[in-house]
Amino acid sequence: AKRLFTFRRGVAERPADAAEALGQKGYNLAVMAALDLPVPPGFTLSTGAWRDAEAGGGALPQPLRADIRDGIEWLEAVTGRRFDGAERPLLLALRTGARGAMPGLANTVLDIGLNDRTVEIFADELGDTDFAFRSYKRFMESFAALVHDVDPGEFEEIADEEGERAGWRGEPASPAEWRALMARYHAFYEDEIGATLPQVPLEQLVQAIEASFASWRNPLAKAYRTAQGVPENAGLAVTAHAMIFNERNVYSGTGRAISRDLATGRAHLAGEFRAKGRDEAEIGERGEALDLSEVCAAGANAESFPADCAELAGHVARLEAHLADAVEVDFMVGDGELFLLQFRPLRRTPAQAVRIAVEQVRDGLIEEEEALLRIDPASLDQLLHPTIERGGELPIIGRGMPASPGAATGAIVFSTEAARLAGAEGRAVILVRNETLPEDVHGMHVAEGVLTIRGGTTSHAAVVARGLGKPCVTGAGLLRIDAEAGTLLASGRTLREGDEITIDGSSGEVIEGAVTLIRPTLTGDFATLMEFADRARRMGVRTNAETPFDARAARSFGAEGIGLCRTEHMFFEGGRIQAMREMILASDEAGRRRALEALLPIQRSDFIELFEIMAGQPVTIRLLDPPLHEFLPKGDNEIAEAAEQLGLDESVIRQRIDALHEFNPMLGHRGCRLAISYPEIVEVQARAIFEAAIEAGSRAGEDVVPEIMVPLVGIRKELDFVKARIDAVAERVAKEKGRRVAYLVGTMIELPRAAVRADSIAEVAEFFSFGTNDLTQTVFGISRDDAANFLSTYVREGVIARDPFQSLDIDGVGELILLAVEKARRARPDISLGVCGEQGGDPASIAFFEKCGLDYVSCSPFRVPIARLAAAQSAI
Ligand code: PEP
Ligand code: MG
Repeated sequence: AKRLFTFRRGVAERPADAAEALGQKGYNLAVMAALDLPVPPGFTLSTGAWRDAEAGGGALPQPLRADIRDGIEWLEAVTGRRFDGAERPLLLALRTGARGAMPGLANTVLDIGLNDRTVEIFADELGDTDFAFRSYKRFMESFAALVHDVDPGEFEEIADEEGERAGWRGEPASPAEWRALMARYHAFYEDEIGATLPQVPLEQLVQAIEASFASWRNPLAKAYRTAQGVPENAGLAVTAHAMIFNERNVYSGTGRAISRDLATGRAHLAGEFRAKGRDEAEIGERGEALDLSEVCAAGANAESFPADCAELAGHVARLEAHLADAVEVDFMVGDGELFLLQFRPLRRTPAQAVRIAVEQVRDGLIEEEEALLRIDPASLDQLLHPTIERGGELPIIGRGMPASPGAATGAIVFSTEAARLAGAEGRAVILVRNETLPEDVHGMHVAEGVLTIRGGTTSHAAVVARGLGKPCVTGAGLLRIDAEAGTLLASGRTLREGDEITIDGSSGEVIEGAVTLIRPTLTGDFATLMEFADRARRMGVRTNAETPFDARAARSFGAEGIGLCRTEHMFFEGGRIQAMREMILASDEAGRRRALEALLPIQRSDFIELFEIMAGQPVTIRLLDPPLHEFLPKGDNEIAEAAEQLGLDESVIRQRIDALHEFNPMLGHRGCRLAISYPEIVEVQARAIFEAAIEAGSRAGEDVVPEIMVPLVGIRKELDFVKARIDAVAERVAKEKGRRVAYLVGTMIELPRAAVRADSIAEVAEFFSFGTNDLTQTVFGISRDDAANFLSTYVREGVIARDPFQSLDIDGVGELILLAVEKARRARPDISLGVCGEQGGDPASIAFFEKCGLDYVSCSPFRVPIARLAAAQSAI
C-alpha cells in the first residue's frame, strides 16, 4: 500500500482516510495544497508507515526507505534543490503529528540536510555565514535531543566555554570562529553519544523519522491517550517539507491570522505577526507582535509587514469557506514569501461564538440551524452571569455543589439580618449559612451570592438562588460556621464576618478574598440567535416564577408563560411568612381560616400582577406544597420570635412543632395531602385565583385562563377530591361576580404511582407537569436534600454519570415519564404535557423531553435562553 503522499501548491496526494492517515499537520498541508494555497512542498509518511516501522521493531523497513528516496527525488525536482547538493542544498523541516493534538510527541526538527559541507554552500548562497551556521548549530542540538535524548543545555555549556576561550560573547563573530565552535560540538557529540552526527542528509532524515515515530511511546503521550480514549494503534504521521526561512531577515517572521473580528464577528483579517531578524535592540528578543488588522488597515508596506495583506486575507477567507467556520491560520514569511502551515477552527469564547455564528448566517456561509448547532447551550450561562477572571492561582478555601451559576464577591455575613443591614448601606455581601430557611429569602435578595454548608442542588438555597439569578454554592461540607465566635473555618483559615470571599456557583469553588469579575453584556446577536432558536424549536419554554421580579426577568429572556408558580414561595417575602406560620401552627380550622383570610388578599394581588406581567401567556399556579419543616421556626431564638409575632406562648408553639414533627417531611404531610386534610386551603387559594383572573381579565379586556395545578398526587381520588373543591369555588365565585372564569385543572406527575396510573389520572387532569425533582427523589429513593453528601462520590467513582437531580436519569426516571406520556395521551389525546423540575433547564434532559413529545419545558428565568437553544437543537 502507499505510505508516502506528496503535496505542493495546487496538488496533493491523499488517501481515502486522509484525516487519520496523514496526521493533523500533514492533513492540513494536503488540504491547503489542494485548495491551491501557498504551502511549502513536501511529503507525509502516513500512520501506515508508522505501523510498518513498529512491526519491524522501530527501524524503517527497506521498502519505506525506498519510498523516502523517491519522495526526496520528487522534492528535488519540485524545488530545484538537491540533498547534499554542491549548490543550492535542499533543507527540510520534519514535523510530527497524530490525528488530534497530543502532548509528548517529537518536536519539529529544522534544517535536515545541513552538514559540514552544505553549511558552507548555504552560507555562500545567502551571503550570510551567521545565519547558515546558526541553523547548523540548532540542527545539531535538536537532532541530538530527538535521536539521542541529549539535553540541549549541555551544548549551550560547550558554546559558553568556547566563547570564553575564543573571546566572543553570544555568538561567534567570524566564519573561523563558527567552524571552531562546530568542531567542539562534533567532539562533544562523539564523546557523549559514541557516534558522529550523520553527514549524509538521507541518513539524518531516516534517523529523525525513526525517532519521531518512537515518540508515540512517550509516557506523556501514552497517558494522554488513556485519558482521552485514543486507541494505541492509531499511530502518528511525519511530514517533511522544504524549509521556510522565517528567521532569515527583516522580511521574515511568523504569524497567526484569523478570519473574523472577534469584537463584531464580521469577516475581517485579524491576528498577529512577529517579525524576525530585525535589530534586536529595537524589537526585543522574541520579536514584538504586530496587530495584523491594524497593520493592514494602515496600508502595510514591506517594512511593516513583509507579505501582502490582501493575498493573506484571500487565503484565510478561502479556508473559512472551506471549513464553513471561522478559522485561525498559522503562517510564515520567509524573505517576503508567504507560506501557510496549519489551520483550525477559530478558538472563541461563548460570546464570540454567538457573534460569529450569527454573522456567518448573515454572510450566507451557514444556515440558521447550523448556527444553532454550533453553540453549546450550557455556555450561554456565561453570557447571563458574571464569571471569574481566570489567570493566576486562586486561593481556593472550599468546594461545594455548583448550585446556581455565576460568580459573586462580597463580605461574609452569617444572618439575613446582617445581610439586610449591609444591603441598606449598599455593601456587597455573601450570605453564609448552614442551610437557608424561607425567611432567608430576604437576605438572599440583598446578598450578591449564597454559600451553604449543607444541602444539594435542589435544596431551598439552590432553588431560590436560581430563581433570583444569584450565584450559589451549596453543600460546602468541609467549611465550618462557628456561630458563637462569628467565624468561618476553611482549610485551616479563620475568616470573620466582614472578610471578603468569592464564590463561583458554576464550579462550586469558594475563594478567599475579592476576585475580578467579568460581567458580560448581551448583544443584539444574542437576541438574533434566540430568534433562530424560536423558529427551529417545537417545544414551548415557560418559566418557574412566583415573584414579579422573576416573572419579568423570565419574560425578558423570552419565557412563554409560567409553568410553575410555587405558591408557598410567595410567602417567603416580608411579613408574609408570619401568616403562613400562623396557618401551619393553627390548632383548628377556625384558626386556619383566620390565617387564610389574611393570606387571601395578598395572594389575589400577587396573581393579578403575575397575570398582567404574562399578558395572555399561560400561568400555571400550583396549590400550596410546603414541606412543613421549611416553614417551622427552628431554635430558641426563632421560636421566641414566632411566639411574639403570633401572640402565643412559647410552650404552645413548641407543642405544635412537636405535633407537626415528621421523620421524613419530604414524604410527609405535603402537597395535596395537606389540601385533603384542610380543604379550606384549596378553597381560599382557588378563590384568590378566580378573583384575580376576573380582575386581570377585565383590566386587560381579554380573558385570563388560569391553570390550577395540584401537587403530589399519587391516587386519582386525591385529584377528584381537590378538583371538586376547586369546581365548587368556581361556581360560587361565578355567582357572586356574575362572571365565569374559564380554567384548567391539572396535576404534577411527581410520584411513581402517578406515572404508572397516568391514564386513570388523565381522565380528571387537563394537563400534566412532570415534577422531576420529586419524581427523581422517589424513583431513586434518594432524599433530594441529603443527596449532596454522597452523590458527588457516586459521580467521582463513576457509579452514575451525572447528578440525576441536575440531569434527568433517562434510563430510570425517563422510562417512567415515557410510560406516563403514552398512557396519558391514550386517555386524553389533547392533554397538555410539560415538565417543571430542575431538569427542565438542562440541555441533555431537554433533548430527551423532545423525544417524549412533551409540549413544553419550564425552568428558572436565567435558564430560559439555554432551554430555548437546547429545545431548538433537539428539534433539528
Ligand atoms: C418537582 O418536584 O419537580 C417540582 C417542580 O416541585 P418542587 O421542586 O416544588 O417539589
Ligand atoms: Mg415537587
